[in-house]
Amino acid sequence: MILIHDTYFYWTHRLMHHKRLFKLFHLIHHKSTNPSPWAAYAFHPLEAVVEAGVFIVFLYCVPMHKLHFFIFFFFSITYNIYGHLGFELYPKNFNKSKIGKWINTSVSHNQHHQFFKGNYGLYLLFWDRVMGTIREDYDMSFEKATIK
Ligand SMILES: [Zn+2]
Ligand SMILES: [Zn+2]
Repeated sequence: MILIHDTYFYWTHRLMHHKRLFKLFHLIHHKSTNPSPWAAYAFHPLEAVVEAGVFIVFLYCVPMHKLHFFIFFFFSITYNIYGHLGFELYPKNFNKSKIGKWINTSVSHNQHHQFFKGNYGLYLLFWDRVMGTIREDYDMSFEKATIK
């Protein structure tokens, strides 16, 4: 579910950054250039419809107990809040570890809000690394945030 959601989010997110769609769908979320947890669910209703689409995919493609569905939804909200936290919780050098280089961080998403381009992932950096959309200054920003 994490892989499906991350893939869905990455590609719909990139689509919403298209110049013809950005203002209508995604501009409200990007009003926060240095987001707080409140930004996690601050977006236009049309973006909410797009974001909710993944749950329709889950309902039709992933057989699961309803409790699993709600646990995943809770995990998703929690990770989304972490992404907009404005503080990094992962330790120093996490971004360079074998696992950490594939995991999205608060620093990564904060950069997305700051610069509007790059770092489009939700839980993972997989698609950003594969598609070359991870910001070149990500490692430097992660180190700067975790050295304090
Ligand atoms: Zn965005
Ligand atoms: Zn955001």
